[in-house]
Amino acid sequence: MATKSKKKPAAKKRLAPARPKIKKSARTSKPAQAAGTESQRVAAILAKLDEAYGNATCELKHENAFQLLISTILSAQCTDVRVNQVAETLYKKYPDAKAFAYATPSELEQDVRPTGFFRNKTKSVMGASKAILEKFGGEVPRTMEEILKLPGVARKTGNVVLGTAFGIASGVVVDTHVLRLSNRLDLSRNEDPKKVEQDLMKIIPQEKWIQFSHQLIWHGRRVCHARKPKCTECNMESLCYAKDKTV
Ligand code: SF4
Repeated sequence: MATKSKKKPAAKKRLAPARPKIKKSARTSKPAQAAGTESQRVAAILAKLDEAYGNATCELKHENAFQLLISTILSAQCTDVRVNQVAETLYKKYPDAKAFAYATPSELEQDVRPTGFFRNKTKSVMGASKAILEKFGGEVPRTMEEILKLPGVARKTGNVVLGTAFGIASGVVVDTHVLRLSNRLDLSRNEDPKKVEQDLMKIIPQEKWIQFSHQLIWHGRRVCHARKPKCTECNMESLCYAKDKTV
Protein backbone atom coordinates (compact mmCIF):
# COMPACT_ATOMS: atom_id res chain seq x y z
CA MET A 1 0.00 0.00 0.00
CA ALA A 2 1.34 3.35 -0.97
CA THR A 3 2.20 5.61 1.90
CA LYS A 4 0.56 8.99 1.91
CA SER A 5 3.18 11.64 1.10
CA LYS A 6 3.23 14.65 3.33
CA LYS A 7 1.96 17.73 1.56
CA LYS A 8 4.49 20.54 1.43
CA PRO A 9 3.13 23.88 2.63
CA ALA A 10 2.52 26.15 -0.35
CA ALA A 11 5.28 28.71 -0.87
CA LYS A 12 4.21 32.14 0.26
CA LYS A 13 3.65 34.33 -2.74
CA ARG A 14 5.30 37.70 -2.48
CA LEU A 15 2.75 40.35 -3.12
CA ALA A 16 3.59 43.57 -4.89
CA PRO A 17 2.30 46.70 -3.21
CA ALA A 18 -1.22 47.31 -4.48
CA ARG A 19 -1.75 49.95 -7.10
CA PRO A 20 -3.68 52.68 -5.30
CA LYS A 21 -7.19 53.21 -6.57
CA ILE A 22 -8.34 56.65 -7.49
CA LYS A 23 -11.68 57.94 -8.59
CA LYS A 24 -12.34 57.78 -12.28
CA SER A 25 -13.77 60.83 -13.88
CA ALA A 26 -17.46 60.54 -14.66
CA ARG A 27 -16.93 61.25 -18.34
CA THR A 28 -13.62 59.58 -19.18
CA SER A 29 -12.66 55.96 -18.74
CA LYS A 30 -9.21 56.92 -17.43
CA PRO A 31 -8.33 59.19 -14.55
CA ALA A 32 -6.57 62.40 -15.54
CA GLN A 33 -3.71 61.85 -13.09
CA ALA A 34 -2.15 58.69 -11.78
CA ALA A 35 -2.42 57.87 -8.10
CA GLY A 36 1.31 57.26 -7.89
CA THR A 37 2.15 60.91 -8.44
CA GLU A 38 2.16 61.94 -4.81
CA SER A 39 5.16 64.24 -4.41
CA GLN A 40 7.07 62.10 -1.90
CA ARG A 41 6.76 59.03 -4.11
CA VAL A 42 7.90 60.99 -7.18
CA ALA A 43 10.87 62.37 -5.21
CA ALA A 44 11.79 58.82 -4.13
CA ILE A 45 11.70 57.64 -7.77
CA LEU A 46 13.88 60.57 -8.85
CA ALA A 47 16.37 59.79 -6.08
CA LYS A 48 16.53 56.15 -7.17
CA LEU A 49 17.10 57.19 -10.78
CA ASP A 50 19.90 59.53 -9.71
CA GLU A 51 21.42 56.72 -7.68
CA ALA A 52 21.38 54.25 -10.60
CA TYR A 53 21.91 56.57 -13.56
CA GLY A 54 23.67 59.69 -12.31
CA ASN A 55 25.56 60.00 -15.60
CA ALA A 56 22.76 59.15 -18.02
CA THR A 57 22.96 61.03 -21.27
CA CYS A 58 21.82 60.81 -24.87
CA GLU A 59 23.30 57.75 -26.56
CA LEU A 60 23.19 59.18 -30.07
CA LYS A 61 26.72 60.22 -30.95
CA HIS A 62 26.95 63.76 -32.30
CA GLU A 63 29.33 66.66 -32.56
CA ASN A 64 26.79 69.45 -32.78
CA ALA A 65 23.08 70.25 -32.58
CA PHE A 66 22.55 69.70 -36.29
CA GLN A 67 24.00 66.18 -36.23
CA LEU A 68 21.89 65.38 -33.18
CA LEU A 69 18.79 66.59 -35.00
CA ILE A 70 19.52 64.40 -38.03
CA SER A 71 20.39 61.37 -35.87
CA THR A 72 17.21 61.81 -33.84
CA ILE A 73 15.11 61.88 -37.02
CA LEU A 74 16.90 58.70 -38.16
CA SER A 75 16.36 57.02 -34.79
CA ALA A 76 12.59 56.66 -35.26
CA GLN A 77 11.80 52.92 -35.12
CA CYS A 78 15.54 52.18 -35.03
CA THR A 79 18.14 51.55 -32.35
CA ASP A 80 20.67 54.21 -31.37
CA VAL A 81 23.44 51.67 -32.03
CA ARG A 82 22.35 51.30 -35.67
CA VAL A 83 21.98 55.06 -36.11
CA ASN A 84 25.46 55.61 -34.66
CA GLN A 85 26.88 53.10 -37.15
CA VAL A 86 25.23 54.90 -40.07
CA ALA A 87 26.17 58.33 -38.67
CA GLU A 88 29.85 57.51 -38.65
CA THR A 89 30.09 57.69 -42.44
CA LEU A 90 27.04 59.87 -43.03
CA TYR A 91 28.44 63.02 -41.44
CA LYS A 92 31.72 62.66 -43.29
CA LYS A 93 29.84 62.57 -46.58
CA TYR A 94 27.28 65.23 -45.58
CA PRO A 95 29.08 67.56 -43.16
CA ASP A 96 26.39 70.27 -42.82
CA ALA A 97 22.83 71.36 -43.53
CA LYS A 98 23.74 72.50 -47.05
CA ALA A 99 25.12 69.08 -47.95
CA PHE A 100 21.93 67.35 -46.76
CA ALA A 101 19.58 69.94 -48.27
CA TYR A 102 21.04 69.55 -51.76
CA ALA A 103 21.84 65.86 -51.65
CA THR A 104 20.66 63.53 -54.39
CA PRO A 105 17.56 62.00 -52.80
CA SER A 106 18.08 58.49 -54.23
CA GLU A 107 21.69 58.48 -52.99
CA LEU A 108 20.79 59.75 -49.52
CA GLU A 109 18.03 57.14 -49.35
CA GLN A 110 20.63 54.41 -49.77
CA ASP A 111 22.91 56.05 -47.22
CA VAL A 112 20.23 56.04 -44.51
CA ARG A 113 18.55 52.80 -45.63
CA PRO A 114 19.89 50.69 -42.69
CA THR A 115 17.86 52.84 -40.27
CA GLY A 116 14.57 51.80 -41.89
CA PHE A 117 11.74 53.93 -43.34
CA PHE A 118 14.50 55.42 -45.47
CA ARG A 119 12.30 57.22 -48.01
CA ASN A 120 10.37 59.17 -45.40
CA LYS A 121 13.48 59.79 -43.35
CA THR A 122 15.29 61.15 -46.42
CA LYS A 123 12.40 63.56 -47.04
CA SER A 124 12.45 64.71 -43.40
CA VAL A 125 16.22 65.09 -43.25
CA MET A 126 16.35 67.07 -46.51
CA GLY A 127 13.28 69.13 -45.59
CA ALA A 128 14.61 69.99 -42.15
CA SER A 129 18.01 70.91 -43.59
CA LYS A 130 16.42 73.19 -46.22
CA ALA A 131 14.23 74.87 -43.60
CA ILE A 132 17.27 75.44 -41.36
CA LEU A 133 19.05 77.13 -44.26
CA GLU A 134 16.11 79.12 -45.57
CA LYS A 135 14.26 80.08 -42.38
CA PHE A 136 16.80 79.95 -39.58
CA GLY A 137 20.04 81.25 -41.10
CA GLY A 138 21.69 77.83 -41.12
CA GLU A 139 21.31 77.33 -37.34
CA VAL A 140 19.17 74.77 -35.52
CA PRO A 141 16.43 76.81 -33.82
CA ARG A 142 16.48 77.00 -30.03
CA THR A 143 12.79 77.19 -29.18
CA MET A 144 10.17 74.45 -29.31
CA GLU A 145 7.87 76.66 -31.35
CA GLU A 146 10.50 77.13 -34.06
CA ILE A 147 11.98 73.65 -34.06
CA LEU A 148 8.50 72.19 -34.59
CA LYS A 149 8.38 74.10 -37.89
CA LEU A 150 11.06 71.79 -39.31
CA PRO A 151 9.63 68.98 -41.45
CA GLY A 152 9.69 65.62 -39.70
CA VAL A 153 10.24 67.15 -36.27
CA ALA A 154 7.69 66.54 -33.51
CA ARG A 155 7.93 67.23 -29.77
CA LYS A 156 10.03 64.15 -29.01
CA THR A 157 12.78 65.19 -31.44
CA GLY A 158 12.44 68.82 -30.34
CA ASN A 159 12.93 67.86 -26.71
CA VAL A 160 15.95 65.66 -27.50
CA VAL A 161 17.71 68.42 -29.44
CA LEU A 162 16.81 71.35 -27.19
CA GLY A 163 17.60 69.39 -24.03
CA THR A 164 20.77 67.58 -25.04
CA ALA A 165 22.38 70.03 -27.46
CA PHE A 166 21.37 73.31 -25.79
CA GLY A 167 20.45 72.35 -22.22
CA ILE A 168 17.01 73.91 -22.71
CA ALA A 169 14.30 72.13 -20.70
CA SER A 170 11.27 72.66 -22.89
CA GLY A 171 9.56 69.38 -22.05
CA VAL A 172 10.14 65.72 -21.34
CA VAL A 173 11.23 63.33 -24.09
CA VAL A 174 8.53 60.65 -24.33
CA ASP A 175 9.83 57.78 -26.42
CA THR A 176 8.74 54.15 -26.19
CA HIS A 177 10.74 53.59 -22.97
CA VAL A 178 9.52 56.71 -21.18
CA LEU A 179 5.96 55.88 -22.21
CA ARG A 180 6.17 52.29 -20.91
CA LEU A 181 7.96 53.18 -17.68
CA SER A 182 5.69 56.13 -16.90
CA ASN A 183 2.77 53.70 -17.04
CA ARG A 184 4.56 50.97 -15.06
CA LEU A 185 5.67 53.41 -12.38
CA ASP A 186 2.17 54.92 -12.35
CA LEU A 187 3.41 58.38 -13.16
CA SER A 188 0.84 58.62 -15.93
CA ARG A 189 -2.15 56.52 -16.86
CA ASN A 190 -2.36 58.02 -20.32
CA GLU A 191 -1.12 56.27 -23.44
CA ASP A 192 -0.84 59.20 -25.82
CA PRO A 193 2.79 60.46 -25.63
CA LYS A 194 1.64 64.10 -25.71
CA LYS A 195 -0.62 63.55 -22.70
CA VAL A 196 2.05 61.53 -20.90
CA GLU A 197 4.48 64.40 -21.43
CA GLN A 198 1.97 66.87 -19.97
CA ASP A 199 1.47 64.56 -16.96
CA LEU A 200 5.22 64.28 -16.40
CA MET A 201 5.77 68.01 -16.74
CA LYS A 202 3.29 68.55 -13.91
CA ILE A 203 4.99 66.22 -11.45
CA ILE A 204 8.71 66.40 -12.33
CA PRO A 205 10.55 69.62 -11.41
CA GLN A 206 11.59 71.45 -14.59
CA GLU A 207 15.28 71.36 -13.68
CA LYS A 208 15.04 67.55 -13.80
CA TRP A 209 13.20 67.21 -17.12
CA ILE A 210 16.28 66.64 -19.29
CA GLN A 211 18.05 64.21 -16.97
CA PHE A 212 14.84 62.39 -16.03
CA SER A 213 14.20 61.56 -19.73
CA HIS A 214 17.72 60.18 -20.16
CA GLN A 215 17.48 58.17 -16.93
CA LEU A 216 14.14 56.60 -17.79
CA ILE A 217 15.41 55.69 -21.27
CA TRP A 218 18.53 54.10 -19.73
CA HIS A 219 16.43 52.17 -17.24
CA GLY A 220 14.13 50.98 -20.01
CA ARG A 221 17.07 49.80 -22.09
CA ARG A 222 19.03 48.15 -19.33
CA VAL A 223 16.52 46.85 -16.77
CA CYS A 224 12.84 47.56 -17.33
CA HIS A 225 12.55 45.82 -20.70
CA ALA A 226 9.20 45.71 -22.47
CA ARG A 227 8.80 41.94 -22.34
CA LYS A 228 10.73 40.68 -19.36
CA PRO A 229 11.62 43.48 -16.99
CA LYS A 230 14.55 42.53 -14.75
CA CYS A 231 12.69 43.48 -11.58
CA THR A 232 15.12 41.64 -9.31
CA GLU A 233 17.83 44.05 -10.52
CA CYS A 234 15.66 47.15 -10.23
CA ASN A 235 16.36 49.63 -7.43
CA MET A 236 12.80 50.98 -7.72
CA GLU A 237 11.18 47.62 -7.08
CA SER A 238 9.81 48.60 -3.67
CA LEU A 239 8.13 51.65 -5.24
CA CYS A 240 6.70 49.82 -8.24
CA TYR A 241 3.36 48.07 -8.34
CA ALA A 242 3.21 47.42 -12.09
CA LYS A 243 0.96 44.52 -13.01
CA ASP A 244 3.66 42.92 -15.14
CA LYS A 245 6.40 43.04 -12.50
CA THR A 246 8.39 39.81 -12.53
CA VAL A 247 8.92 39.56 -8.76
S1 SF4 B 1 10.17 46.77 -10.62
FE1 SF4 B 1 10.20 45.85 -12.66
S2 SF4 B 1 8.47 46.74 -13.77
FE2 SF4 B 1 8.86 48.02 -11.96
S3 SF4 B 1 10.24 49.65 -12.72
FE3 SF4 B 1 11.52 48.02 -11.89
S4 SF4 B 1 12.03 46.71 -13.67
FE4 SF4 B 1 10.27 47.97 -14.23
